[in-house]
Amino acid sequence: MQLSLANKYRPQTFDSMIGQQHIIGILKAKMQSNRDSLQNYLLTGPRGTGKTTSARILAKAINCLDPQDGNPCNHCVNCQTINENKTLDYVEIDAASHTGVDNIREEILDKALYPPTVLKKKIYVIDEVHMLSKGAFNSLLKTIEEPKGNVCFILATTEIQKVPDTIVSRCQTFLFRKVSEQEIADHLEEICKTEGFEYEKDALQLIAMISDGGVRDSIKYLDQVSILGKITTDNVSKFLWIVSEVTIKNFLALIKKRDKKLIFDEIDRLNEQGIDLFQFAKQVIGLLDKHLLEDTAFYLSIAEVFSGILRQVRYYPYPAVVFKMELWKILNDGESSDEMLSTSIEQPQPAPKKPEKPEKSEKKKPEKSNASPSSPAQEDWDTWVQVLQTLPEGTLKSNLTQHAILENISNGTAKLVVTNKIAQISLQKQENKAEIEKKLSEITGETTVLEISFESKEAYFARNLGI
Ligand SMILES: [Zn+2]
Repeated sequence: MQLSLANKYRPQTFDSMIGQQHIIGILKAKMQSNRDSLQNYLLTGPRGTGKTTSARILAKAINCLDPQDGNPCNHCVNCQTINENKTLDYVEIDAASHTGVDNIREEILDKALYPPTVLKKKIYVIDEVHMLSKGAFNSLLKTIEEPKGNVCFILATTEIQKVPDTIVSRCQTFLFRKVSEQEIADHLEEICKTEGFEYEKDALQLIAMISDGGVRDSIKYLDQVSILGKITTDNVSKFLWIVSEVTIKNFLALIKKRDKKLIFDEIDRLNEQGIDLFQFAKQVIGLLDKHLLEDTAFYLSIAEVFSGILRQVRYYPYPAVVFKMELWKILNDGESSDEMLSTSIEQPQPAPKKPEKPEKSEKKKPEKSNASPSSPAQEDWDTWVQVLQTLPEGTLKSNLTQHAILENISNGTAKLVVTNKIAQISLQKQENKAEIEKKLSEITGETTVLEISFESKEAYFARNLGI
């Protein structure tokens, strides 16, 4: 069986890990000085940054019969037993899986009471520990509260804020960081050399950027692209559904020229090609950042627009429309003064103020830049994203994510536009509506009711684009 690159290059010692020097130094020193005074560890940080890999290396280092400067030797019987998963003294459990949660008490906590049979110390690695139920956390707490001297827990999580304080305070915590693009690109270059891959340095940089600080993902991508032969930016773009730097530069040039038609055509073209528009927005921001000094004022204003796009596009049913709506705002900015004037004349005049009423008590509202009537304020948008995130996976959640758009939340009413009949029917169910209203009320801190209206997709787009 051919080993995937990610497995082949999974670090086996602390020294071969990438980008976590601040943690590795401490762990190695600890393994060299007082390896026998056991404690529990909590490893936290973004996905793919080496938490479970470190947990395994740490387990070996604790048990190794021939440690090398704090690193495990990977040759002694204890190291090999762990590498080959041959003993019940070393257990890895994924709390995100059902079996993980169901079995935690019988499989781990009860057995932790007995001394190890083969290894020097029993090691339990619980991955994604934040997924444990309240009951399981309580049992875990009881177990780690009474240290046995020969049992060690290594907990790993991407979401430390969901781990109870009582657990966190009983562990030595290590914060893993996203690995820099340069470190990842350098690492990929090493792998290319070892594997004999032909590569372009820019292609490796592109993979590094897309991997967003995760080494494991970057190697996985490299593995996939290598199937096409040479690692070129073209092949990376093709395989990972992303665009080349040239495409982005051309796109920015169109924005600079304010050529609305060509800009919108290009967005449609990318969308139809299956380009991941979320990644595209990230790529644009990355490129603007890299070349910021070349055209600072323009790039900064575009970066602001794309930050707005990025915030919305992941949860919005029609990413291409988000692009158009947000770009529309900036494309209409600073039009000729005649046009500006006629726009302002067309706007309804505010009702005249009563002269006797003093103005100073009025609450100052943050100014909204010429937002289209339907684009929600950032705060409302954040609330909506929170609601979507807390809904259980299922039809309701996918309907809302794909076919519903929040217009705004004010005075205890959340206005929702639904663009699909089935989604509308699902929302008319009293229990579904009640569930969302409950979540909205919890997040906003006031009783919030849903006001649902139906609008066809076409009508919605037309209204929002002002056409
Ligand atoms: Zn060893």
